[in-house]
Amino acid sequence: MSEASVFERIVAGEIPASKVFENDRVLAIRDIAPKAPVHLLVFPKVGTYPNVAALAAGDAGLLAELVSVAQHLADEHCGGEFRLIFNTGETAGQTVFHVHAHVLGDPEHTGALTEGTL
Ligand code: AMP
Repeated sequence: MSEASVFERIVAGEIPASKVFENDRVLAIRDIAPKAPVHLLVFPKVGTYPNVAALAAGDAGLLAELVSVAQHLADEHCGGEFRLIFNTGETAGQTVFHVHAHVLGDPEHTGALTEGTL
């Protein structure tokens, strides 16, 4: 069995995190190294899906729930507008292989997320 990812260890309570949302199936936390004024991470508490494609194939309802939680968080933290990113694979920048969505927002319009920025 492969070693538990950092997010699975956060779900298990082994590593502290700044939680912003939690229900039976989904947890959201603040990213430890934010790349935008609002940078949250949303991931499942259940299953062992390494990336978004695996989650879509294995539990499409849970993927829809992640997106719904992302919108809820954006409503709370950045006026309902957000960028949703699922890095998939090392060359795309994925470092944690437990599926997670990055929710990025710029509620003060600093320009951090204008068209042309990734
Ligand atoms: P990715 O590179 O798409 O796999 O995203 C992993 C993200 O997890 C990065 O943005 C990291 O800054 C973030 N991260 C890693 N460890 C922690 C942690 N203990 N608490 C919060 N965020 C973390």
